[in-house]
Amino acid sequence: MSNLTEERLTPDCSKCHALCCVALEFDWPHYKKPPGEPCKNLTEDFKCSIFDRLEEEGCSECRSHNCYGAGQSIAQAVEGATGCSWRDGAHIKNVEFSEYLKLFADIHEKLTGRPAPRKEKAPREAVSEQPATST
Ligand code: SF4
Ligand code: SF4
Repeated sequence: MSNLTEERLTPDCSKCHALCCVALEFDWPHYKKPPGEPCKNLTEDFKCSIFDRLEEEGCSECRSHNCYGAGQSIAQAVEGATGCSWRDGAHIKNVEFSEYLKLFADIHEKLTGRPAPRKEKAPREAVSEQPATST
C-alpha cells in the first residue's frame, strides 16, 4: 500500500464532525441508539464527553473503531461543498450519513472481504490519533 493510500485510509477525526458517533447504529447491552441519532455522550461541539473513560463506561469499541478515512472524506466533501454539517439540517444529514455509510461499507468489504457490521458500532483498529470526538 502506498503512503498516500495509507494516509487516505487512516481516520483523521480532526477533519470530521463525529460521523461515526451519529450515523452508526449502536446495539450494545448498556446503550442502544438508531442510526442517525447522536450518541448521548457527544457534545454540541462534536467532542466525546467520556473519551478519557471510554473503557470504564463500556465503550471500548469507540477507542478502536476504524472508519478507514471514510469519515473525513465524506465530511470534507459534503461540508466543503455546502458549508454546512449534519447539525444544520436534514438534507445535509441524509446525504452526509448515507454517503459515509456507503463508503465505510465499501472500504471495509474491500479490505476485509467481509460486509461492514450493521448492528453495532464497527470495531476500531488502532487509531493512533485522538479523535475529534475526544474532550
Ligand atoms: S473515526 Fe469517526 S470521528 Fe474519526 S474520522 Fe472516522 S467517522 Fe470521523
Ligand atoms: S466516542 Fe464518545 S461520543 Fe462517540 S460514540 Fe463513543 S461514546 Fe459516543
